[in-house]
Amino acid sequence: MEKLLIFSKLVIIKKMEKRTCLECEAKLSGRKDQKFCADYCRNTYNNRQNEDANATVRRINGILRKNRRILAEHNPNGKKTLDGITLAEDGFNFHYFTNTYKTLKGSHYYFCYDHGYIKLENDQYMLVLKQDYVK
Ligand SMILES: [Zn+2]
Repeated sequence: MEKLLIFSKLVIIKKMEKRTCLECEAKLSGRKDQKFCADYCRNTYNNRQNEDANATVRRINGILRKNRRILAEHNPNGKKTLDGITLAEDGFNFHYFTNTYKTLKGSHYYFCYDHGYIKLENDQYMLVLKQDYVK
């Protein structure tokens, strides 16, 4: 019984020892939910997290804008068919789009903002402009 008690005390001590500041890894001795040793560390940590998130958002926004520009350049009149290789050569990234629209027949349109496309057979793509019925 006593052994068990000692063991559980050791576990508690170990847990306490592992608590360190998320920013500078200084030992924490305050409240159980304490994550930082000081406001400075909390601010530094949170600012960096936000910077990473902002960088990700900027990168994806850039891809989406580029996709839209490529579609718009190839489709000045609102409807055009061309091959996927041409889009890929221009740097179009097929993994990124802002929304999709599924037709009653089960085909999918992919949009980058107001410009979109639907994949046809033989690597052909029909470029379209967003219609009002597409949410
Ligand atoms: Zn710290």
